[in-house]
Amino acid sequence: MSKTIFERICAKEIPAQIVYEDEQVVAFRDINPQAPTHVLVVPRRPIPRLAEATAAEQALLGHLLLTAAALARQLGLSGGYRLVINNGPDGGESVPHLHVHLLGGRVMGWPPG
Ligand code: AMP
Repeated sequence: MSKTIFERICAKEIPAQIVYEDEQVVAFRDINPQAPTHVLVVPRRPIPRLAEATAAEQALLGHLLLTAAALARQLGLSGGYRLVINNGPDGGESVPHLHVHLLGGRVMGWPPG
């Protein structure tokens, strides 16, 4: 199977504005930001989407969320922020590599589109 674009970003094969990385996850600026702050937090392991994550990935999924929360603090999103995981075609997923969107810097509407 060919690598996903996010695997290639994690491997530094293609450029991205990386804001954080560790042995499990990489976070980088979304190329098409939907808010003043729009960061994607992705696991290095290419889990296609949340629906395909297993109990073996429980700690990794927790780490994804805690990393997003730490980044929100670090990026100064003291007024609040939104985390989004799009799953499957109806959920608006366009890259088949699990990622958490961290959106902030403006007031979010509800319901989402
Ligand atoms: P989703 O629609 O939930 O699968 O989100 C995929 C996100 O990846 C979109 O917000 C895209 O703008 C973003 N994206 C796609 N390619 C890149 C890239 N090369 N660097 C940064 N963000 C990207």
